[in-house]
Amino acid sequence: MFERSMVSSLVKEMELICGENNAEKVLEVTISLGSLSGVEEDNLKYWFQNMTKGTFAEDCKVTIERENAQIYCKACDCHGPPPYPLLMCMNCKSYDVEILSGDMVNIENMALI
Ligand SMILES: [Zn+2]
Repeated sequence: MFERSMVSSLVKEMELICGENNAEKVLEVTISLGSLSGVEEDNLKYWFQNMTKGTFAEDCKVTIERENAQIYCKACDCHGPPPYPLLMCMNCKSYDVEILSGDMVNIENMALI
């Protein structure tokens, strides 16, 4: 399960940050969700609730910020958002593109106690 392992590493990362800050509990977390990450917002929330049950992050408030992808086109030397859901140049329709951002799920912010 792709989303499950994605969330599992998020939770591990949160645990690390908690440890570094000597925090006991996560009150709130903001997660940026790249439009090319392949993760559905609903599934992300579902697995997050599922995997934080009984942990330091149980019942914390989850805010999800969608991050629009940016690509670079090698054919016409431009960058911008690809025409969703296609991964191609919005200008010249070339598929010779590089993903600059938007293919990750990251922790943006956390409120700890
Ligand atoms: Zn192009």
